[in-house]
Amino acid sequence: MTTIGIIGGGQLGLMLAEQARTLATEVRCIALDPAPDAPAFAACGERIVGRFDDPAAVEELCRRSDVVTYEFENVPGEILIPLCEKYRIPQGYRPLYDSQDRLREKQNARDHGLQTPDFRAVDDEDSLRRAVAELGLPAVLKTRAMGYDGHGQALLRTEADIEKALPLVAVPSILEEFVPFDFEASVVMVADERRVVSFPIGRNVHRDGILDLCFVPAGRNAGVLERMRVESERFMRACGYRGILAIEYFVRGEAFYFNEMAPRPHNSGHYTIEGATTNQFRELARYLVGEELHTPELAAPTVMKNILGQDLAAAERIAARVAAEKRTDVHVHFYGKTESRPKRKMGHITFVGATPETYARCWANDFVK
Ligand code: AMP
Repeated sequence: MTTIGIIGGGQLGLMLAEQARTLATEVRCIALDPAPDAPAFAACGERIVGRFDDPAAVEELCRRSDVVTYEFENVPGEILIPLCEKYRIPQGYRPLYDSQDRLREKQNARDHGLQTPDFRAVDDEDSLRRAVAELGLPAVLKTRAMGYDGHGQALLRTEADIEKALPLVAVPSILEEFVPFDFEASVVMVADERRVVSFPIGRNVHRDGILDLCFVPAGRNAGVLERMRVESERFMRACGYRGILAIEYFVRGEAFYFNEMAPRPHNSGHYTIEGATTNQFRELARYLVGEELHTPELAAPTVMKNILGQDLAAAERIAARVAAEKRTDVHVHFYGKTESRPKRKMGHITFVGATPETYARCWANDFVK
């Protein structure tokens, strides 16, 4: 029996714990989260209710686990670095460190050969105005730390937008060139000592800065996506990362630009549970327990739709219809979150065998625009 400890008890921890049960190795999971009703607790044999910045709580998780991973990205280094010496945390602190700060993250991507939108560090009005003069408008201002799903960002189009954005630069920030992309895509990879496997790349559609839909295959620019896969795998190796890594890109013509990365399962990879021959959670679990990785293949064209708070009623109707019709091609996942809010990720639906066209015809109208 191997015990996987998970720092973070959100939906990523929930699906990791569920998929870990499907391995040949007997696995149980234990999660640490400050919320007593965290989703992952439902699938874990044991739980620790505690904060990520409480060294005693994180160490207790390590002590009670054979191997530890994280699904929460902002675990402080002061806590994790000493624990990496004492316990088996095979992904280590490095990928977290490299991704926790947008400036460091983009510099690291460039240093390892990936193209990024041009960017400047900004920390006051002067540096912001200088950066705008150098990069031009439109440009995107983002806080360096703790940003996700479009939080802590402002699109600057005009002089007036610069004035409005000044409160943002009270904290260290980054100004990026605006990329008028054709579409967004992300690569999810799992690496062990021997090799990197990556999941088929889809096309991501965001709504209000949050992932809304993922279409796999992406259906365009196959050559660019193949180069994206090869360069992403090379990047992961060059950085020496192990375990799981997701990279988000903007695709424009024949070029692709690194936007951000996350050393944890990724929302765009949720489709792999039913849409691929193996999934991102299972391969991460395989890595953690030391099983040989499997190479993922797309099982069928697939569409993944996020269920945000505002989509919940529609998703419940779809779930009822799927159950009544005994459909095996539509999979509705609810994360068991007790409180629903607009823009909160409450679940997702995977439509296996669906294309963008069949999705638009059969399902899209169920959701409020
Ligand atoms: P992020 O939090 O960096 O993933 O940004 C959220 C979303 O904002 C992205 O998925 C894009 O849709 C958009 N965005 C962020 N940065 C840029 C950029 N430099 N150019 C164009 N769109 C961007």
